[in-house]
Amino acid sequence: MINPLKLSVEVNRIVCREEHGIFLRRYWRFRGGKWYGGIATADCVGCNLRCKFCGPVLYMTKNKLIGEFKTPEEVAKRLVNIAFKKNYRYVRVSGGEPTICIEHLFQLLEIIGDYPFVFILETNGILIGHDKSIAKRLSNYENVHVRVSLKGTNREEFQRLSMAYGEFFDYQLRALENLLNYGVSFHPAVVASFTSSENINKLKKVLAEIDKEMAENLEIEYIVLYPHVIESLKRHGLVPTKAYTVDWELIDSNEFIARYL
Ligand code: SF4
Repeated sequence: MINPLKLSVEVNRIVCREEHGIFLRRYWRFRGGKWYGGIATADCVGCNLRCKFCGPVLYMTKNKLIGEFKTPEEVAKRLVNIAFKKNYRYVRVSGGEPTICIEHLFQLLEIIGDYPFVFILETNGILIGHDKSIAKRLSNYENVHVRVSLKGTNREEFQRLSMAYGEFFDYQLRALENLLNYGVSFHPAVVASFTSSENINKLKKVLAEIDKEMAENLEIEYIVLYPHVIESLKRHGLVPTKAYTVDWELIDSNEFIARYL
């Protein structure tokens, strides 16, 4: 079982580097995409969870480190070029956990702040829940919106899905509280592909105790069945209750079994 705080430190050592006050991070891809109506994406390397449904490569393939170190300047340039070219409103760092190597992220936000784009910070929230000063610092950026993706609706689901101790689900909730308290623009999402509507309703009640409006804004997120995601689900013996095919057809567990198992 994983302790995400300890893993963050280990991953940080591998995917982050400082050179004369500039913080570099490993990235494995830059791309445009249709999410949010169009968004430029930089896929970073490394995460502090090990979700069984995770598409992105974490940082190793066959014992070989992937990606290349990029400065915040280089990442911003790639994102801005894609966004201008495709007429997007949004940019993001995805593919891993952006709050690992936090100084790199803040240096990137400083640069992106000079451009007319909204930066969507997609995070599992563990580190923001652990350290509220991250939420405080994020409140300085008007062009940042944080999307905290909850890995399940409760401790048990979180542990089953992320391979981290269930108690760290509370860190995800604490991240929401910290962002709320510091007035950061944010909303919660929940990976709902392995749960029931009953548990989603229970989660909404838990969120409403923190803030009613936030509970109403809960985004329901279903996994997308890319080939490597299916492979990972099979390896872990996981069957989604609902998931999108790559053609955006929402299928249930029976259909998943019929098509892929
Ligand atoms: S938190 Fe996101 S990037 Fe990290 S393992 Fe889970 S799904 Fe993958």
